[in-house]
Amino acid sequence: MSRLERLAARLERPLLVTKGVHVRYLVGFASSNVALLVEPLGHTRLYTDFRYVEAARAVADVELVRTKRDVIGALSELLAGQSVAIEAEHVSVAAADRLRAGGAELVSTAGVVEGLRAIKEPAEIEAIRAACRIADAVYGDLAEERFTGRTEKDLAWFVERRFRERGADALAFPPIVASGTNGSRPHAVPQEVEIPAGTLVTVDMGGLVEGYNSDATRTFATGPLPDRLAEAYAICAAAQLDGLAAVRAGVTGAAADAAARSTIEAAGLGEAFGHGLGHGVGLEVHEAPTLRPESADTLAAGNVVSVEPGVYLEGLGGVRIEDLVAVTETGCDVLAGFTKELVTVR
Ligand code: ZN
Ligand code: ZN
Repeated sequence: MSRLERLAARLERPLLVTKGVHVRYLVGFASSNVALLVEPLGHTRLYTDFRYVEAARAVADVELVRTKRDVIGALSELLAGQSVAIEAEHVSVAAADRLRAGGAELVSTAGVVEGLRAIKEPAEIEAIRAACRIADAVYGDLAEERFTGRTEKDLAWFVERRFRERGADALAFPPIVASGTNGSRPHAVPQEVEIPAGTLVTVDMGGLVEGYNSDATRTFATGPLPDRLAEAYAICAAAQLDGLAAVRAGVTGAAADAAARSTIEAAGLGEAFGHGLGHGVGLEVHEAPTLRPESADTLAAGNVVSVEPGVYLEGLGGVRIEDLVAVTETGCDVLAGFTKELVTVR
């Protein structure tokens, strides 16, 4: 079944798809001004304006409707008197108001297309694997670089360049390079500060291949470490392996999180791991399912998720180790390959 057919089979009423990534996923058409109306019986209309009409003619299995530049304005007339489901998390209040004012009855839904996207097809997993391989190669390049005396920003630029040189279409997100005391901030922004010797440097980065993202984190040492940082690294690495061992179809996101978290808690560092274990990755860097204590998700074969425990010690430094994995019935296929042994750089 095509993606559109699988979606149509799940619907009780027509679904208005307005999130651009969802349109791209469903029909392979990328546009900044587009909507799809998918009916339960499988008829689908694609609405877009003059700028995209030529490209849209190539989209299979849809009826193309050319609108004025204001697609929502056109839909507010076209949907008058109809009951349609909307993607409540992706429709602005203003757009919903306009559709209702035009006479449409809107029913909020959430997670419908996200649920389809969460189960990757083999070709999607291969694109993510290719993006992960580029990250592995860039880590190899980084391990040869001098860190000390260079700024975090300088290394972040090195990472950006290398991703492109090694074949990524773009960066998945601005790389994080967090050294020394910056390392205790999980989403630190690279600073114009020199990286000191004898500390940890967390590098979180990813690239884009065929529209699919990778997301990986390794933490390097710049010389011999204070005992607490060396211990933090060892505990984080052990927790990451425990998290990987727990990932399998049928396990809840909460249980996978607990498998890694308990290792960190047993070392007395539970407070130092303040975020969830992981998240889905695909066309977006953060998507379904989630692995964290309050997650209501259950893992399924075909999910691609990150496993990324961290230990953050305010005023001292931090460590995070992150791999992407494809979930299988019996475990998981680790898509990242760069070593998780502590690598000491110059
Ligand atoms: Zn990451
Ligand atoms: Zn991540």
